[in-house]
Amino acid sequence: AKRAGGGRHLRYTADLDAQATVRARAGADLRTALEGGQFHLVYQPIVELPEGRIVSVEALVRWTHPERGFVSPAEFVPIAEETGLIVELGEWILRQACAQAVTWFAEYGAAAPQRISVNVSARQLAEPGFAGLVVAVLSETGLRPEQLVVELTETAVFDGGQALRTVEALHRRGVRIALDDFGTGHSSLTLLQTVPVDVLKVDKSFVDKVTMAGRHAVIATALIQVSDGLGLQAVAEGVETAEQADELYRLGYRLAQGYHFGKPVPQPVFVPDAAYSARP
Ligand code: C2E
Ligand code: CA
Ligand code: CA
Ligand code: CA
Repeated sequence: AKRAGGGRHLRYTADLDAQATVRARAGADLRTALEGGQFHLVYQPIVELPEGRIVSVEALVRWTHPERGFVSPAEFVPIAEETGLIVELGEWILRQACAQAVTWFAEYGAAAPQRISVNVSARQLAEPGFAGLVVAVLSETGLRPEQLVVELTETAVFDGGQALRTVEALHRRGVRIALDDFGTGHSSLTLLQTVPVDVLKVDKSFVDKVTMAGRHAVIATALIQVSDGLGLQAVAEGVETAEQADELYRLGYRLAQGYHFGKPVPQPVFVPDAAYSARP
C-alpha cells in the first residue's frame, strides 16, 4: 500500500511540475508582454437609467499575444496574480486609465464621463504601498480622487488587515470604493458592515434572469434595497437587453453596464446630452 501511495505521489508531483512549468512560461510571457507594449485598455460605459446617459466608464485590460492573438483577461489575470506580475501590470493599468480619463475631460468637457473605474486585484491591495501609489498617480495625472473608482472583489478585501487599511486610506482620501461581482461571494453582506463602500456592482448572474419571475429577480430586488438603505450606488452589471434594463429600472436601479449600452472599446466617443451611440 505504501508503494502504491508513493507511486501516486510521484505522478502527482510530476503533474504539479508540469503545471508549474506552464505557469512559469506564462509568467515570462506576461513580463515580455508588459515590456513589449502588448497590453492595451478598453473602456465600457456605465450609464444612467432609463435614458442611457454615460456617467462613468470601466477600464478593462486586453492582451494581444504576437502568436496567440487575443487572450482573455479571465485567462491571464489569474496568472498575473499568481506570479505577482499583477502588481506591475496593475500599476501600468492605473496610470494609463487615469491619464486617459484626464484627456477625455479636456477633449469632451461636460460630455466626458464623470468617473473612471479601475479593477484592482487582491495582490495589489495587499501591497503596503498601494494607497501611496494611487495618490502619486492622481497627482501625476491631475485626476481628482472623487473621479476614481477602485473596483475590488470580496476576496481582495478579506486578504488580511493590510487590504482593509488600504481601502480605508483610499476612502478617506475621497477615492470611491466599489465591490465587484456583488452578491456572488460568501460574505457580501458581512463586508458592508466593516468596509467603507460607495458602489455595489450587482453581478451579472442576478441581472441575466431579472425579467423572469423567480429567485434571481427576488435577489436583484433585495440587493437594490440594501444599496438604497445604506445610501450606496448600485450598478447592474452585464445588461444585454432592453427588457432587462426596463425591469431593472422598475426595481429601482439607476445605473447599469452591459453590451446593451456599449461594449468595451479602445476609443469611446462621448456625445453631449445623448445616449450611448451604440444604443438602437
Ligand atoms: P469584471 O471586472 O467583472 O468585468 C466585467 C466583465 O464582463 C468584462 O469582461 C466585460 O467585458 C464583461 N461584460 C460587460 N458587459 C457584458 C455583457 O453585457 N455581457 C457579457 N457576457 N459580458 C459583459 P472582461 O473584460 O473579459 O474581464 C473579465 C474579468 O477579468 C473582469 O471581470 C476582471 O475580473 C478581470 N479584469 C479585466 N480587466 C482587468 C484589469 O484591468 N485589472 C484586473 N485586476 N482585472 C481585470
Ligand atoms: Ca470590474
Ligand atoms: Ca463584475
Ligand atoms: Ca467578474
